[in-house]
Amino acid sequence: MIPSTERQGKIIQKLKRKGFRLTPQRFAVVKILANNEEHLSAQEIYERVKKDIPFTSFATIYRTVALLRDMGEVMELGFADEGNRYDGARPYPHPHLVCIQCKKILDPKVPSLEELPRKLAKKTGFQILNHRLDFFGLCPECQKNPSRER
Ligand SMILES: [Zn+2]
Ligand SMILES: [Zn+2]
Repeated sequence: MIPSTERQGKIIQKLKRKGFRLTPQRFAVVKILANNEEHLSAQEIYERVKKDIPFTSFATIYRTVALLRDMGEVMELGFADEGNRYDGARPYPHPHLVCIQCKKILDPKVPSLEELPRKLAKKTGFQILNHRLDFFGLCPECQKNPSRER
């Protein structure tokens, strides 16, 4: 995995190169997404930014997240009941572990899973452009506390 400070620097360089002004809000969103291992929702990103920059609107934060997504620097993960979650640390297709109770989303670091698209392409002749691999279940904490609500 690419170190988060490197990710942060890369995204900021790209924004500047494309002529986007680095507003405090944009910087805050980049910082949160580049360092996040949690796959936050836009609402959660907004709440974190608001702690440092109180006069921020949700629309501003959402537009920044969408801009980073359109630039290919943030991956959007859509869920039917939970809405969209965002991964700025690894903006390319990769498998996810999704806890159905606390809604935590983790990146499993399993090399054989990462090799899967390449192996599939080789075996089937498919040119794989994108993929989605989600494992749903209960995280270790939720297994210990089966009825706990977040
Ligand atoms: Zn859980
Ligand atoms: Zn991820």
